[in-house]
Amino acid sequence: MSEILPGVHAIDGINPSDDFTTNVLLLRDAKGGSWTLLDTGLPASDGYPGGAAAVERYCAGHHIPLTSIQRILITHLHLDHTGNLATLAKKTGARIFAHWLDAAFIAKNPPYTGPGMPPRDAVEVTEKLKDGDEIDAFEGLVAVHTPGHTPGHVSYFCPARRILFAGDAVFGEGSGLVVSTPQYTFSSPLALISLRRLAELDVEAVVEYHGTPVLKGGKAKLADAARKAKI
Ligand SMILES: [Zn+2]
Repeated sequence: MSEILPGVHAIDGINPSDDFTTNVLLLRDAKGGSWTLLDTGLPASDGYPGGAAAVERYCAGHHIPLTSIQRILITHLHLDHTGNLATLAKKTGARIFAHWLDAAFIAKNPPYTGPGMPPRDAVEVTEKLKDGDEIDAFEGLVAVHTPGHTPGHVSYFCPARRILFAGDAVFGEGSGLVVSTPQYTFSSPLALISLRRLAELDVEAVVEYHGTPVLKGGKAKLADAARKAKI
């Protein structure tokens, strides 16, 4: 997909299949010439295409040195988001950000026993986030704790650009959005309450992890998803 919005790149060649997209994002930081990676994709060692090599290939093709990736932001613990975290953290030397709850599960201390694929390699999150924390990345991000899909799921909101990086708080469905699938969700009622909160933000674009990003009218589509959710 490449550059989907100015400074927002979706890594090519990392989707497990055409109908299972994983929008691993590379964000150009407004300051310092650095980059921020948002989620990391499934590991190629499991037979999925892409893996960390897809990120490396994309960076090489865009003349982005791996060491210029100074932060890796994680939305939640599931393997399709943390699968290449250990490898990419080592290759980039980046600081790792995640909510303090999911950070414990990413470190496998304790192991995660909820729905969805647990992390594979234990990784120590260096920056443990709480709701409302500001992150000096991209054009300024705010961590929005959106529990439901996992206990410590976090979405990242850029007020300056009105872009919501929603992770799995919502899934793309056609040109719209739906609340995260119950089968893979720790608590569907919590996911709905979190979605209602996201719909209160002043959002134009919603870049969710699975599905086609919503580039316009995001606020109305978030509200629509919350209204239609059957819990
Ligand atoms: Zn996911």
